[in-house]
Amino acid sequence: MRGLSFTGVEWFSGIGLILGLPVVILSAATFAAGIAAYIFSSEQKLHWLSLGVFLLLSGTVGTLIYTSGHLGSPFIALWAILTLFAGLYKIGGLVAMAYADAIYIAYLSFTIDDPIAALPSFLFIFAIPLVLSSLIWRHKSFSKQYEKSYTALAHELNQEALKSDIIINAIADGVIVVNSKGAITLINPAAQQIIGWNHKDAIDLDYNLVFRLRNDHDQPIAAEDSPVQHVLRTNESTSQTDLNIITGSGKKIIVSILVSPVGALGEGAIIVFRDITREVVENRQKAEFISTASHEMRTPVAAIEGYLSLALNPQTAQIDQKAREYLIKAHQASVNLGTLFQDLLDVSKAEDGRMTNNPTVVDIITFTGDVVSELAPQAAAKNLQLLYTPSTERNGGATTIQPAFYAYVDAGHLREVLSNLIGNSIKYTRTGSITIGISGDDMHITISIVDTGIGIPQEDIPHLFQKFYRVDNSDTREIGGTGLGLYLCRRIIEAMNGRIWVQSEYGKGSMFFIEIPRLKNDDAVAAAPPQA
Ligand code: ADP
Repeated sequence: MRGLSFTGVEWFSGIGLILGLPVVILSAATFAAGIAAYIFSSEQKLHWLSLGVFLLLSGTVGTLIYTSGHLGSPFIALWAILTLFAGLYKIGGLVAMAYADAIYIAYLSFTIDDPIAALPSFLFIFAIPLVLSSLIWRHKSFSKQYEKSYTALAHELNQEALKSDIIINAIADGVIVVNSKGAITLINPAAQQIIGWNHKDAIDLDYNLVFRLRNDHDQPIAAEDSPVQHVLRTNESTSQTDLNIITGSGKKIIVSILVSPVGALGEGAIIVFRDITREVVENRQKAEFISTASHEMRTPVAAIEGYLSLALNPQTAQIDQKAREYLIKAHQASVNLGTLFQDLLDVSKAEDGRMTNNPTVVDIITFTGDVVSELAPQAAAKNLQLLYTPSTERNGGATTIQPAFYAYVDAGHLREVLSNLIGNSIKYTRTGSITIGISGDDMHITISIVDTGIGIPQEDIPHLFQKFYRVDNSDTREIGGTGLGLYLCRRIIEAMNGRIWVQSEYGKGSMFFIEIPRLKNDDAVAAAPPQA
C-alpha cells in the first residue's frame, strides 16, 4: 500500500491498479455484513442475511469491473464465479442475475467497438455460469429435500422420545436406569415416590446408595450378588420377589423387581420394581387363616371318619344294607375332606417357609420300590398293573448291573411327591398299567411315572402345576380331587433344586417326570449310612 487519496486507495501499484472509493466502501460493507451474518445470524434469518451479503458482493464486483476496464478487467472472472451462486436464491436469484447481465451486455454492445468479437466472452462470463448455477440449484433443491426428511426424522424421534417420557412417567411401577458404572441416569416419578428420593438427588448417584437392597433376613446384599450387577455382568434379565428396600426415610418395603439389560454387555441396566409389601402381608394373613382353619378342622373330620369306620365295621356296629350304602358315601366324603385339609396345610407350610427340611442320603431305587409296594393294593383294587422298572446299566459285555442312585433330600417330602404322582396315575387310569422307572446321569436322577390312563388335554398342560388347577371335562368330573397335589409336588421338587414336568396325549396316557440332583456315590458312602 502506497497511500490514501480522496478518490481511492492505490493498491498493488506495481501492476498499476487503482480502486475507486465506491469499491472500497462496498467491499468494507460486504466484509462487515459477512462477519455480522456469521456472528448474529440465527438459522431462520441466515437465508436473508446471506442474500444481503450476496447482493453487496455483486455490487462490489460489478463496480470493480466497471471501474477497471469492463471486459478487459482482471476481475471479470469474479463475476462468472459470483453468477454460480445466484442459483442459491432459487429462480428469483437466477432471473435477477440474468436481468443484470442483459442490461450490462446491452450497455457494452453500445460502447465497445466490436460487439460480435465479444460474444465468446459474453458466453463464458454471463451465460454458461448462469446455466451451471441453475443446475447446481436443482441439485441443491434435492439436498433440501433430504434436509427436509432429516428434519422430519428428527422431529419424529423427538416425538417418540416425548412419548416414552410420558409413558415412563405415567407407569405406576418404579423405573430406574443405570449406566455401565452403576450411576443412575433415569428415575421415574413412581420410583422416586416408592423409594423416597427425588430426581435431583438421585440422578448420577451410584444405585447402591439410592436403591438399598436387603435380603429376606434383612442383610444388605453384597454388590456382586445384586441383581443389577448380575445383569451388567451377564446381559441376562433377572427377577426377584423376595427382596427388601430401605427407603430414603429408613422404612423397609418388600419389592418385586425385574432387572433387564440395556444395550450391549455391561452397557447398562433397567430396574423395574413394585412395592408389594401390602400384597405379601395380605397373602401371609390369608395363608395363616387357611393353615389355622385346616388344622382346626382336620381333627373333627378325623373323628367323623373314625366313627364312620366304626359304624361300617360289622364287629362294632349292626346296620342294614341301605344305611351301609349311605355310610360308605359319607365315609368317602370325610376321607376326601381330610385329604383336602391335609393338602391345604401342606401347601400353606410350603408357601410360608414353615415346611421342615431334613435331608438325608436316600437310595432312590430302594426308596421308590418301597413307595410302589405301599401303593400296590390301591392299583390291584382297580385291576391295574403296577410295574417298577429301575434302569439297568450295561457293564462291559453282556452282564448288566443296577446303578446306585443316591440323592440328598428330605425322604418324607420325596415320599409325598411319589405317592401323589403314582396315586394320581392310579386314580386317572381305568385299565392298563402304571410303570415307574428310574434313570440318570452323573448329575441328575430322573424318576418317571407312565400310565395308560385318560391323558391330559394339551391346553391344560401349562396350567397343571398351578394351585387348585383341575382338568375339567367329562372324564375327570366323576373323580374327586383338590387340584393341590401337583402344585405341592412342584413346590417340593423345586425346593430340592429339581424340576417336574409332564408329557401326555389325551385319551392315551400320561408321563410324569421328576428330576433331582444326584449325589456322587463316593459322597453318599462317605456320608451317614444310606437309608431307604
Ligand atoms: P387332584 O387332586 O385333582 O388330582 P392334582 O394337582 O394332583 O389334583 O392334579 C391336577 C389335575 O391334573 C387333576 O385334576 C387331573 O385332571 C390331572 N392329572 C393329574 N395326574 C394325572 C394323570 N396321571 N392322568 C391324567 N390326568 C392327571
